Amino acid sequence: MQPYRTIESDKQAELGRTVIPAASMSNWRRSVDSHPIYMTHANGARLYDLDGNEYIDFSLSYGPAVLGHSNEHLQRALKKQVDRLYTSNVNELQIAAALKVKAHIASAELVRFACSGTEANAGALRVARAYTGRQKYVRFNGHYHGGLDHMMGGIVPDPRNPVPVPGEHDDDPYSRSANTKGRYIGAFNECFMIEWNDLLALKRLLNQDGEKIAAVLMEPTMVNNFGCMPEPGFLEGARQLSTKYGVVLIFDEVLTGFRIDLKGAQGYFGVTPDLTTLAKALGGGFPVSSTCGKREIMDTLTRAEAIQGGTYNGHPLAMAAVIAAIEEYERDDGAVYKHIEKMGIMLKNGLDDLAKIHDQPLLVQGFPGAWTFVFSERKKIINQADGRGFDFAKTQRFGELLKARGVLTSHRFCISAAHTKEDIADTLARTDEVMELL
Ligand code: PMP
Repeated sequence: MQPYRTIESDKQAELGRTVIPAASMSNWRRSVDSHPIYMTHANGARLYDLDGNEYIDFSLSYGPAVLGHSNEHLQRALKKQVDRLYTSNVNELQIAAALKVKAHIASAELVRFACSGTEANAGALRVARAYTGRQKYVRFNGHYHGGLDHMMGGIVPDPRNPVPVPGEHDDDPYSRSANTKGRYIGAFNECFMIEWNDLLALKRLLNQDGEKIAAVLMEPTMVNNFGCMPEPGFLEGARQLSTKYGVVLIFDEVLTGFRIDLKGAQGYFGVTPDLTTLAKALGGGFPVSSTCGKREIMDTLTRAEAIQGGTYNGHPLAMAAVIAAIEEYERDDGAVYKHIEKMGIMLKNGLDDLAKIHDQPLLVQGFPGAWTFVFSERKKIINQADGRGFDFAKTQRFGELLKARGVLTSHRFCISAAHTKEDIADTLARTDEVMELL
C-alpha cells in the first residue's frame, strides 16, 4: 500500500475554495477547517481518491450504500432506465416502487416519494398537522431530521419547560454543530424537545399539552449521536401514549430503513408508527426519499388538504434505484442483512477487544449495520444528556488516524453487503495501530 498522501485532493480543495464555500457541499461538520478528500471511483466496500489512496469504506456515503458501491443489479437498472427515460415525468415505476416499500414497511399503506430525508420529514410533519389540526410537535435532543430551521439543534435551558432555544453546550459538540445563524427567530416556538428514552418526560408532556400536539417525531434508534438503542418499553410506551393522546407518531427511518432490517426499525422492534420517513438505503445511494404511512392520515394528501410536491419527486431514475435496491435487499430471504449482521458482530467484538487490550474507553453502540463510536468513560449512553462530556477530541482523532490508514468512518462504522471478512480483519489490524498511537 502506498503511503497516505493528499496532494491532488489538496490542489482541488484550493481551487474548490475559489468557487464553493469551504470547498464543500455541506457545512454540517463546520467543514471550513476540514480536509476534503475527492473520491474518484469505488468497488464493493472500497473507495478510491484522486491521489490513489484506497479506503475501506464504513461511511457508506453517510449511510445509503448498504449494498456497497458497485452493485451490478443497481448499475444495470440505472443504465437501462437512462436509455428509456431520465427526465422527471409521471412513470409506471412510481407504482412498482411504492408497492415495494409497502411490501416491507408495516406503516406504509400509502407512499409518496421525494428527494431528501429533510423533505420527507417536512412532508410528514405537514401531514400530521393537517390530520390533527394541531400545531405543536415533540422531538428529541440529539436526533437529526435534516437541516430545517425548526428541526435542527437547539438546547433546552429548563427541562420543566422543554421548548428549545438556539444555543450550544460546551460539552456537547452536536449542539455546537447544529447551531446556525440565519435561523428564523420563531423557528422553535412550535416544538418541544425532550431527552430520548425518557418515557416519563414524554408522558408528562403529553399529559400537559397533548391536545395541542400534532406529532411525536423520533429516530427509532439514535444513530446520529452515540448509537443509542431504545430502552426496553420505550418505543412501545411512545406508541401507546401517542394513540392515547391522538398524536401522530412519526419514525424517521432515514438511517434505519432498509438498513437495520428489511422491515426497518419498525419491523425489527415490532412497533408500528403512524408515519415513516425513508431515504438513504431506500435508493441504495441514489437521492430519493419517502413520506409514507397509514392511509387515514396520508389521505390528507389524497384530498389535497395537505400539499406536498416537487419537480423531481418520483423521478424515473430514482424509482429504478428504489426497485433495484429493494430487490437486492429481498434476495435469498434477506441474505444481505444476515451478512451485515455477521460482519458487524465480528467488527464490534474486535473493537471491544482492542479497547480492552489498549485500555482505551472506546464505547461502540448501535446495531451491526451502524455502530457509532465515542471515547467515553460511560459503559452505556442512553440519550444526548447522558453522553455529554465525552472525549470529542479523541473521538475525532481516532477517526482521522483511521482515515489516514485507509479506513473511512464518519463517526460510525456502517457495514454493507460488500464488506468481507478480510475487510474486517484489515480494519481491526489498522485500528490496533491507531490505538497504539492514541
Ligand atoms: N433524518 C436522519 C435520521 C438522518 O440521518 C438524516 C441525514 N443524515 C436526515 C434525516 C436528513 O436527510 P437528508 O440529508 O437526505 O436531507
